[in-house]
Amino acid sequence: MLSQLPAFDRFNPTEAQAELDKVLAQNRSELAELLKRESHSWETLIEPLEDTGDRISRVWGPTAHLFSVWSTPEWRAAYNAGLPKVTEYGVELSQNEALYRAYQSIHDSPAFASFSPARKKVVTDALRDFRLAGVALPAKDKERFKAISLRLSELHAKFEEHLMDCVQAWSKHVTDERELDGMTDAAKSAAREKARAKGLEGWLLTLDFPSYDAVISKSTNRALRRELYEAYATRASEQGPHDRKFDNTALMSEILALRDEQAKLLGFSNFAELSLATKMAESPDEVEKFLRDLAIRAKPRAQAELDELRALAREDGIELEVWDTAFYSERLRQRKLGLSDEALRPYFPFPQVVRGMFDLVERLYDVKIEPVGGIPTWHADVTTYALKYRDGETFGIFYLDPYARPATKRGGAWMDECVVRRKLAGGVQIPAAYLVCNFTPPLGGQPALLNHDEVLTLFHEFGHGLHHLLTRVDEASVAGIRGVAWDAVELPSQFMENWAYEPAILKLFAKHWQTGEVMPDAMIEKLRADRQFQTGLATVRQLEFSLFDLLLHRDYDAARGARVQETLDAVRRDVAVMTPPSWNRMPNSFSHIFAGGYAAGYYSYKWAEVLSSDAFAAFEESNFSAETGLRFRDTVLAQGGSREAMELFIAFRGRKPNVDALLRHSGLSAA
Ligand code: ZN
Repeated sequence: MLSQLPAFDRFNPTEAQAELDKVLAQNRSELAELLKRESHSWETLIEPLEDTGDRISRVWGPTAHLFSVWSTPEWRAAYNAGLPKVTEYGVELSQNEALYRAYQSIHDSPAFASFSPARKKVVTDALRDFRLAGVALPAKDKERFKAISLRLSELHAKFEEHLMDCVQAWSKHVTDERELDGMTDAAKSAAREKARAKGLEGWLLTLDFPSYDAVISKSTNRALRRELYEAYATRASEQGPHDRKFDNTALMSEILALRDEQAKLLGFSNFAELSLATKMAESPDEVEKFLRDLAIRAKPRAQAELDELRALAREDGIELEVWDTAFYSERLRQRKLGLSDEALRPYFPFPQVVRGMFDLVERLYDVKIEPVGGIPTWHADVTTYALKYRDGETFGIFYLDPYARPATKRGGAWMDECVVRRKLAGGVQIPAAYLVCNFTPPLGGQPALLNHDEVLTLFHEFGHGLHHLLTRVDEASVAGIRGVAWDAVELPSQFMENWAYEPAILKLFAKHWQTGEVMPDAMIEKLRADRQFQTGLATVRQLEFSLFDLLLHRDYDAARGARVQETLDAVRRDVAVMTPPSWNRMPNSFSHIFAGGYAAGYYSYKWAEVLSSDAFAAFEESNFSAETGLRFRDTVLAQGGSREAMELFIAFRGRKPNVDALLRHSGLSAA
């Protein structure tokens, strides 16, 4: 069993590169052989294909993983050399017409009717993806489709490049410290460091988010806030203090036109439909209704919260403007809650939080989590655990790499697959996961002490990990998080976050690391209140982005052009409570939809929150019964991507998702 895991003690960059070349060559020749057959079946095509996929994961998976967590020059070189090869191989597969026809013949064969739901989904997902990649188009359309794909990837990259260059090009040099009043010492020293790096005296303020946020939410210098806001809100546009050569306006028009054309080539009425073809939401209209309903529920609360900020600003003799909201919001939060990270940290020593989280999961899903030795890792801080059934049988393994390592480890937190569950002739290949965080390491005899956001991060990533590890699906392509719709994939992770707000659960592990004192009720209450702080304003803001993205892609009309600002203005009239100045150019820096994968998919954030809140509500309603935990395990987590996300949700909840629980958890409705 353990021999399936990567041999991190022996794995080296030179061998990994040679092995990758060998595997790619072997896979290519095997695929060519497979496709020579007269007829195709699950056993003669898909099973051997899954073997080829597994082979790539075994060599490329650990290489990509080490690139992120143990990024020595040698591993960086191995990764950079391998990436184009792996990408090219992936493109070859997705564009392989013979392979597409082979899948189609399996789909059309009499045997298909007797396939398990998981196998059926593997085949239909593959066919869908081939079609969306343009493989099934007639020759002339296919050529155009490919040309558009190529141009779009250039445009997406260019959009991001303009934005980065524009941010790089702008800075504000401050020489009088009084101008920085209100900013934290940490933010000031970061600004001083930036000045020093450029050989300047004083401080340098820039437009990367931490630097911008340090001013806009803390600076008492209103003119400075105004100046930073203007520069930030006009990035990569024809407004504000920026060089016009970074203007993204023309790129946005071309991107929208090409996406629309591509969607129409594939037979969709618009790009939003194309985007939703792989998602849980059924149609753009369903998403629009979802967003507008939520807006109606959130807007009154957002208005009240804004009024509260206005009143606070008036105490200073100020009429609140957009560059004041973050500042007064921060002040209000301090006044109302006064909850500091420093007060919370002693209650969240890392080892205790981890053990508490494991205890919770053991109870919820009737499993055991135990440290397991003898597994080679990439660093001394990494620990390994086995997930076991009550009878002691191991069914999953995970690596936990908790601490930041400057220079060799990428920032952020994530879960990644190490080994995927599959049923093989000789038995089941058990899944393994990497859980990676970037907490501050233990210092001077103190354990690592987390703030509450970090506790949430740990729970979140472990939720993804459980989705991968608790799977009971035998087919690798739809096991764990594979084959799960994009707008549903955050359900298990966000679901876990709810527990880190539950008083009974907090009391299990939130204990002062020195005195052992359980976190006081008053502090828990503040934490819970903080979760609901200004959720109205945050919600309408997310809805503005989501609705803008959706309508921009759904209502595109070639005859009328992109209408970016017009669409945004209309959306703001409907959902926003505060209208930014007319020179605000938010779309020009909206990378999620113009450079990234969120096009006509930004709504997924809210959508998944509805799912996770509603799932958690099932636990609240059943008074946290053991049965609810087992049902969630069996109907959602164990099923991975083997069935449609909506089908699984209904199997768990007995009905479709609704927004009530999200409204209640975020304080947008009574009780
Ligand atoms: Zn996540």
